[in-house]
Amino acid sequence: FAEKWPLPAAAEGAPATTDTAPYAVVADTFADISAVGSRLECTKLLTRLFWAIIARCPQDLLSTVYVAVNKQAPAHEGVELGIGDAILVKVVAECCAMTEARVKELYQKTGDLAEVAQNSKKNQATLVKPKPLTVQRVFRTMKDVALMNGKDVVRRRGDAMKSLLRDAKGPEVNFLVRAFQCKMRMGLAEPTVLVALGYAFALNSLGATAVGNMSPEALQVRLNMGAEGLARVYHEVPSLDIVVDAVLVHGFEILNPDSDVAKLHKTLLSIRPGLPVRPQLAQPTNGITTILNRFQGKRFTCEYKYDGERAQIHYRKGDGFQIFSRNSETHTTKYPDVIQMMPSVFNSDDTTSFIIDAEVVAVDESGNLQAFQVLQHRGRKNIELKDVTIHVCIFAFDIMYYNGAPVLHKTLTQRRELLASVFTVLDGKFRFAQSIDSEDTEEMQRFLEKSIVDGCEGLMVKTLDVEAEYTPAKRSKYWLKLKKDYMEGATDTLDLVAMGAYFGKGKRTGVFGGFLLGCYDAESDEYQSVCKIGTGFSDDMLESLTETLNTLAVPSMPQYYRTNDKPDVWLSESQVWEVRAADLSISPVHFGGYGLVDPNRGIALRFPRFLRIREDKGPTNATSAQQVADMYRQQSLALSAKGEEE
Ligand code: ATP
Repeated sequence: FAEKWPLPAAAEGAPATTDTAPYAVVADTFADISAVGSRLECTKLLTRLFWAIIARCPQDLLSTVYVAVNKQAPAHEGVELGIGDAILVKVVAECCAMTEARVKELYQKTGDLAEVAQNSKKNQATLVKPKPLTVQRVFRTMKDVALMNGKDVVRRRGDAMKSLLRDAKGPEVNFLVRAFQCKMRMGLAEPTVLVALGYAFALNSLGATAVGNMSPEALQVRLNMGAEGLARVYHEVPSLDIVVDAVLVHGFEILNPDSDVAKLHKTLLSIRPGLPVRPQLAQPTNGITTILNRFQGKRFTCEYKYDGERAQIHYRKGDGFQIFSRNSETHTTKYPDVIQMMPSVFNSDDTTSFIIDAEVVAVDESGNLQAFQVLQHRGRKNIELKDVTIHVCIFAFDIMYYNGAPVLHKTLTQRRELLASVFTVLDGKFRFAQSIDSEDTEEMQRFLEKSIVDGCEGLMVKTLDVEAEYTPAKRSKYWLKLKKDYMEGATDTLDLVAMGAYFGKGKRTGVFGGFLLGCYDAESDEYQSVCKIGTGFSDDMLESLTETLNTLAVPSMPQYYRTNDKPDVWLSESQVWEVRAADLSISPVHFGGYGLVDPNRGIALRFPRFLRIREDKGPTNATSAQQVADMYRQQSLALSAKGEEE
């Protein structure tokens, strides 16, 4: 890295140049990252790359970050490369002077098309000297490919990919093919990239000399300010385009909400209609007594916990409505009936914009709540109004933005008043979450039972005035979920990532018969196995899972997986499954919450049972290592309480 692209004088405080960043520098960094095992090393390598880019050619930073996460636009825009293996094999064959049959053969043998391309290109004599690739060109071409449609699209996409691959050398070839395949296999999930970016901004704000003179402790404080500040603004404004530009233009201090510059440009990095806000989350709790203890002295409310799908509804006069899922995906075209209904539940003369938080629930003709499974039968996108057969009702429970300003900092009491003053109920279509503001145990118990009879999962209990702000992405200890299952002694369900699969035996020959599942640890950005699962699947389900999961197979265990188990097939992290277990135990094989409860061992699930695929969760939204550890601790507490009772 230093030889190819030595850190510029700019890192010492000189002004940035108009250089363009060579893609070779990025590909070399990716190769180094692929070779090191530790998350810390990966972060360091990436920080160094970003810092050099900021110091030397800041105009290339956005492209570099997008290339590192292998995305072409903010996630909610749904821009995807979606390149099939067949076209890629063709592209590789043409660029590496081989027949398609030969490429296919080598690919089948090694399982790694990127490696095949890199090796073949190495041995290829070239007549024309390739034009060195720049990061900008790589990013722009990838984006063009992702957005291409219409006539001749396959040929045009192929040509664009070939143009890059022809000019690529060494590791560039490898990482371009991985990027086309959407299998970067470096273990660089978005959270790590954001941490590195936050660090790089922090380092750049100090300059290399000051960094060299600082104590490690003081430096770490500054680095953390960068990483935490960036994560906070990104939860509110999940667009790299906006965030990166804001920091480059206004400086590092804009990440500190108390700084003058942040106050001066308050609206630049705060929530707005059109950009999904990462929703606030809740913690499980196993009884009314726990809630009363937790909320001692704080007024709270109990709301029905509806069994549907989270819907964040955005509106701006002139732009219309948008709906985002829990996972910040665009669901606007999934709910044309909701979009049509919305104008009739508020007065558009007084209301110019809003963001509300709600649950969308399937209802029958008389407005009775239907189970979540009914909602699942609605198509996923591009639904025509005339084709809607499963009707839904919106249950609004919060408001985050109103008439041009965020209201996150207001208390829940104030936000609820605002919500009630802006919107009106429309029977069977738009309602407010049913609630009681009572601290009476018996009344709460009756309300809980009524919620179940009415078809809900239980209650959501929230503080009203103290600690009652809306904090995006936070799993708040002042939002507690009380589900019927917890009351019956069962643990909460877990949402786990499919890490590997085992070939079926006997009746299950020919399909996968079992799977290795894991939780996600954001600290180390790794997936930690928690169980093997083979129960809860129908035969049809196993067949369709086998078909889907085969497309996710990778040749070896990704280095960001942690397990002692060896499935027959490793899977790249993608699907999230909801699972119920009998209980949790300390394990010699599995790594869930490693080090959090036992210093040298992880936690495993006993007798896990598959419930459903969580379409609304991505792998990094899976149950976290911390949550697994919390569940284990809660279970131990419950057991010792039971022991004392007996
Ligand atoms: P989590 O979102 O906590 O990771 P999860 O997606 O499995 O877990 P649940 O355990 O079912 O969700 O609980 C939280 C979800 O409950 C919210 O994301 C929301 O969709 C839903 N919900 C239903 N009613 C309410 C309500 N009144 N207030 C807040 N959320 C509610």
